[in-house]
Amino acid sequence: MKLLLPLISLFFMLSLVACNTSEQPDDTQKGSIDTEEQKSESTDEAEGSTPENNSDTDELKEETEEQEAPKYQVSENWSIVPLEEGTNEKVVLLTIDDAPDKHALEMAQTLSELDAGAIFFVNGHFLDTPEEQKVLKQIYEMGFLIGNHTYSHPYLPNLTEQEQKDEIIQLNDTVEQIIGTRPAFFRAPNGANTDYTKQIAKEENMVLMNWSYGYDWETDYRTKEAIVDIMLTSPYLGNGSNLLMHDREWTAQGLRDIVIGLREQGYEILNPHQIKTEK
Ligand SMILES: [Zn+2]
Repeated sequence: MKLLLPLISLFFMLSLVACNTSEQPDDTQKGSIDTEEQKSESTDEAEGSTPENNSDTDELKEETEEQEAPKYQVSENWSIVPLEEGTNEKVVLLTIDDAPDKHALEMAQTLSELDAGAIFFVNGHFLDTPEEQKVLKQIYEMGFLIGNHTYSHPYLPNLTEQEQKDEIIQLNDTVEQIIGTRPAFFRAPNGANTDYTKQIAKEENMVLMNWSYGYDWETDYRTKEAIVDIMLTSPYLGNGSNLLMHDREWTAQGLRDIVIGLREQGYEILNPHQIKTEK
């Protein structure tokens, strides 16, 4: 693991350049992308018990461990790859950023009906009120993973180290207060990390995660038809693709067709609980 760190850091920097140029221009995302949510499967895993007073039978423990054993990991270019041969590699991960704004709960319900998992990357400024907090709890209880997307969605490289730290830690504190657990994944706004945010994420036991492709903030793709079409025909779509979407009206409208279309092409929608974390 220690030997891999320098390599991962290097790949991360290279990937960042690629992401920023080809997939998510900083200036278009800033302030324009927001809110999405997804959920995945049942709440079984989310509620998987980890009793402190461990009086469970061995059988039960084994079953729990088996359910939670990771099968995939985040690769250097943010795709999702199997840990072992024989695991289906034709998978895609759905992620929904800037949540929970206006459409996150609806998106989570759509995904739940389709039995499709996802990670919702949330912001603290969408968790200010009891109503918003309730929505987050609902999404989490539907089985979706909650990721950290910073408290107020700033461009992190412009901040002081203390500000960067606050943006990340305060959101983790807020999320933990609401759902009882801290996020296991971190996605910087615009994919723009610093060495310091990477360090903080590591200290918080979060896996860094940018994405493979996404389009819903771009002017040309702000209709249901356009976003469905490009999400299913993007040249970046392939085994392990990490799909970036947002809590946006057109994305919410197209989400069902996106999931169905991906499955028609043979992709399995990944259960994000199967991704290896630092926890
Ligand atoms: Zn964002």
